[in-house]
Amino acid sequence: MQLKKNDIYETEIIDYTTEGSGICKIDGMAVFVPCSAVGDKVNVRILKPAKNYAFGKIETVLSPSPDRISPDCDIFNQCGGCTFRHITYPSELAFKQKRVYDALTRIGGIDGSLVGEIIGADNSDFYRNKAQLPITLDSNGNVKVGFFAQRTHRVVALDDCKLQSRAFAPAIKIFLEWANQNHISVYDEKTHTGILRHLYLRHAEKTNELMVCIVANTSELRKEKQLVQMLSENLQNLKSVVLNTNTDKTNVITGKKCRTLYGDGYITDILCDMKFRISPLSFYQVNRSQAEKLYRKAAEFADLKQNETLLDMYCGTGTIGLTMAGYVKNLIGVEIIPQAVEDAKNNAVLNGISNAEFICADAAKAAETLRSRNIKPDCIILDPPRKGCESSLIDTISEMSPQRVVYVSCDAATLARDVKLFSEKGYPVQKAMPVDLFPRTPHVETVVLMTK
Ligand code: SAH
Repeated sequence: MQLKKNDIYETEIIDYTTEGSGICKIDGMAVFVPCSAVGDKVNVRILKPAKNYAFGKIETVLSPSPDRISPDCDIFNQCGGCTFRHITYPSELAFKQKRVYDALTRIGGIDGSLVGEIIGADNSDFYRNKAQLPITLDSNGNVKVGFFAQRTHRVVALDDCKLQSRAFAPAIKIFLEWANQNHISVYDEKTHTGILRHLYLRHAEKTNELMVCIVANTSELRKEKQLVQMLSENLQNLKSVVLNTNTDKTNVITGKKCRTLYGDGYITDILCDMKFRISPLSFYQVNRSQAEKLYRKAAEFADLKQNETLLDMYCGTGTIGLTMAGYVKNLIGVEIIPQAVEDAKNNAVLNGISNAEFICADAAKAAETLRSRNIKPDCIILDPPRKGCESSLIDTISEMSPQRVVYVSCDAATLARDVKLFSEKGYPVQKAMPVDLFPRTPHVETVVLMTK
C-alpha cells in the first residue's frame, strides 16, 4: 500500500535511525519521524511518501515514551542543532551505545563483548567551543547570525543556545552592533555578492581565551579597526581577531587565507595538562573535557613503552601524539592542513617536547613514504575525518607491521568498514570504547584497539 501525504496513522516508535530520527512501521513501511522517542505512541502525519519509506511528523503524542523529557529549548524543533533534547541523557547514551555496537558487530564483524560501555559526559550543555554561524539579514534588514534550520538554508536566530559555549554571546552582540552601525553588507549565496559570510568563534575553555574570526567575501573589511577596537574594549578574554577570506562559490565555510587583525592569530587551550595553540584553520575537538577522556582511553589502549616509535596519523595540532610523547622514544605526526602542522610543531616546543616530528602530507602518501624509508612504528594512532581511512593506507599500515593500531573515529559506520579490512590484514579488534563527545546530537566517538 502506498502511504499518502497528509494521511494520519496511529503507531508506535520502535527504533532510531543512525541520525537519531524515530522510526515506526506503517503497513510494513518504515516511516521516519524526527523528534520522536522509542516507546512513544503517536499519531503520525505523512509528510513525504517515497517508494519504500516515508517521512512523517508527530501530530499528537497519545502516550509518551518513558524516555521522554520536555525539551528545554524553544527552538528545538526548528533548529536542527540538537537531535535529542526530548529524551533523557541516559537514553541518548543507550542509543549511541547501540549504534556503535550494531555497526561494529554487523559491519565490522567483531564480537559484541569487545564493546565497552560508553563514557558519557558530566556536562551535556554548553560544551561546544567552536561556532560557525551564518550571517544573514532579518526581515527589517538588520544583520543577524544563527543556525541553518535542518536540511534548509533558513537561518534560525541563536539567542540562548544550550550547546554553545557561553563565552560567545557577548562577542556576537558586539559584532552585530558593528556590522549594523556600519551597514556592512551580507553575503548572498545566490548572487555571490555582499561581504559577511560567517562569524566563526572559538573559545579555549580552560584558559578562557576567545578568538573571533570573520569569514568574508573580501580580503579587506571596511571599518575593521573599529571592529577590533569594539571587541577588544569590551571583551577582556579576547585573544585574537582574524579575517578569513572566502571568495569562492562554495558551501565550505572557511577560505584558505587568514589575516590577523588583533593578537597572535591563535588561542591556546590546556588539554590533558598540556598547552595547545589552535589557529582558525586547525582542527580542535569541540568538547574539551570529553576529548581528555577520549585521549586518555586512547593512551590506555596504546599501552606505550619508552623504546617505542609512535605514528600519529591525522594528527591535527598534534594533540593525541603530544599527550603521549613522554611515554615513547619518538613520535611522528602526519596532517594535511599546513596551519595545523605549524600549530603541532609549535605545540611540541610549547610543551618542551623534543622527540616529535610532524609531516604535512596526505596520510596514505606519508605512510607509503615512511614505509619505503623502512620506518617501523610500534604503535599507530589513526584519527581520520568521517569518511575514514583510505584502503591503501590500511594496506601500507599492515606492511609496516606495527604491534598495535589505535583507531579513534567519529563515524561508527566507516570505523566498522575499516576494522573489517584491518582484521583481514591480521589486525583483529581487541577492544572498543564509545565516548560521547557530542551530547544532544547523534554523533559519537569510538576508540578501538587492534593488535597484530
Ligand atoms: N587527531 C587530531 C585531529 C583529528 S581530526 C585531534 O584529535 O585533534 C582529523 C584530522 O585529519 C584533521 O586535522 C584533518 O585536517 C586531517 N586530515 C583530513 N584528511 C587528511 C588526509 N588525507 N591526510 C592527512 N590528514 C588529513
